[in-house]
Amino acid sequence: MTHYSAVTEEVVEDLKSLVGPHNVAVEPEKLASYSRDEVALQFWDREYRAEVLVLPESTDHVSAVLAYADPRMIPVTPRGAGTGLSGGAVPAFGGIVMAFDRMNRILEVDLENLTLTAEPGVVTAEIQAAAARHGLEYAGDPCSGDASFIGGNVAENAGGNKVIKYGTTGANVLALEVVLPSGKVTWFGGKRRKDVTGLDLVHLMVGSEGILGVITKVVLKLVPRHEKVVDLLVPFPTIEEAITLVPRVMRELKITPSSLEFMDRNSLRIVSRYTGSTLPFQEAGAHLIIQIEGNDMDALSDQYEDIGDFCLENGALEVFVADNRNFRDLLWKTRKNIAEAIIVFYTKYAKEDLVVPTGNIPSLLKRVDEVCRKYRLEAVNFGHVGDGNIHVNLLAGEESENWQERIEGARRDLYRSTKELGGTLSGEHGVGLKRKDYLGMFLDEAQVELIRGIKRTFDPNLILNPGKIVDI
Ligand SMILES: Cc1cc2nc3c(=O)[nH]c(=O)nc-3n(C[C@H](O)[C@H](O)[C@H](O)COP(=O)(O)OP(=O)(O)OC[C@H]3O[C@@H](n4cnc5c(N)ncnc54)[C@H](O)[C@@H]3O)c2cc1C
Repeated sequence: MTHYSAVTEEVVEDLKSLVGPHNVAVEPEKLASYSRDEVALQFWDREYRAEVLVLPESTDHVSAVLAYADPRMIPVTPRGAGTGLSGGAVPAFGGIVMAFDRMNRILEVDLENLTLTAEPGVVTAEIQAAAARHGLEYAGDPCSGDASFIGGNVAENAGGNKVIKYGTTGANVLALEVVLPSGKVTWFGGKRRKDVTGLDLVHLMVGSEGILGVITKVVLKLVPRHEKVVDLLVPFPTIEEAITLVPRVMRELKITPSSLEFMDRNSLRIVSRYTGSTLPFQEAGAHLIIQIEGNDMDALSDQYEDIGDFCLENGALEVFVADNRNFRDLLWKTRKNIAEAIIVFYTKYAKEDLVVPTGNIPSLLKRVDEVCRKYRLEAVNFGHVGDGNIHVNLLAGEESENWQERIEGARRDLYRSTKELGGTLSGEHGVGLKRKDYLGMFLDEAQVELIRGIKRTFDPNLILNPGKIVDI
């Protein structure tokens, strides 16, 4: 067990002299709000609290703070916007929370090399908007994009709505400036599309949840922005009919949608209570959102008519074309608010982020039904069906007894089934603090030991975001 040092008044004064007094805070309310993410507090067995908040303004600040904390054994937890769903930014051992609110500049849009360079505290939607101003697109698109930071997206390898066509955040990252726990500053990757010089350390950092190094600059790949986008909303009587159609759209119609999202009946019921709006065929078994994009409206119309006919021939109740702003906003507001609606209306739940090979989604959802019957729970299922990534939410009624044991039993049964189906614990939300105890169900001892070894190599004193992913 590593022994960490407490943050004394002297440490706070030293930090102030390193980064400026205005970038250091110890007020209890501030520490409380920077010590949590979107995992509800009732899910932790105790209160986790930072001892001091540091808001660096530059790479030099980050480097100075780490070089100070490392030999003194003071834990440092990097934090983006705190929208994470795994407790990744929760300071499990107290110490310093290093938040990137003040490193929030877009440094460059390079039109020759089609790249954008940003500091870690830039909100994802601002990056998308900056690219769009040049007729380009940054294709990372998590549902939390109006709030999450690009550094947090990289550290979690955030997925989102366009993975089916453009890949996860990692697929769009070319280079990273990283400060190692020792304070040393280094660059991984560059503005190049190919690189086999040494190991791929860029993509070791991507998804490393802040346990290996602190990301201080991100170079992102930009792609041409399509001029026309059309979303189809397709209700189906049953989940199975909706989901079995997904690979067939690509295989038989030879169309790769930019998004392929799924919402079950319970998702729509709960989100409607939250947003106050409903979708057509609200009580259908499942709805798909299928987004396609292109530059030629005639060609796009042909494509969406093909998809529409194909859906109707294969059980769809109707096909709605959202080719105007209002309807498109309604669709995406509905889809993006489901996660928030659950948090608002329920306190006794498990939010899971399972991913299976796409062909096994129907089997996974059958297992979800069985598990819910066994443990007397309700399920809300939605997610990125094109990627096999389903957000399974297990809900216990507010008055129900033994809810923790029932939900825990259901989670374990479901994890076993997910593994049998070739799936894994988390597709995009990460392991963090929340799923750490289940890692061994999915990775064998050899892999867990490799992770521990990599952690020790980057961070021999184990000061950076301790307590996450694996215990050491
Ligand atoms: C309503 C809602 C919808 C969501 N939808 C999606 C979705 O569609 N797809 C998806 O993938 N996720 C989604 N999420 C989860 C979350 O938004 C993502 O994980 C996001 O990438 C987290 O970014 P953040 O800036 O909030 O990071 P935080 O929560 O602050 O931190 C996340 C992790 O990143 C580390 N970190 C942060 N900054 C740095 C840095 N500069 N250097 C090193 N490590 C760092 C932290 O230590 C932590 O481990 C959703 C969350 C909510 C609440």
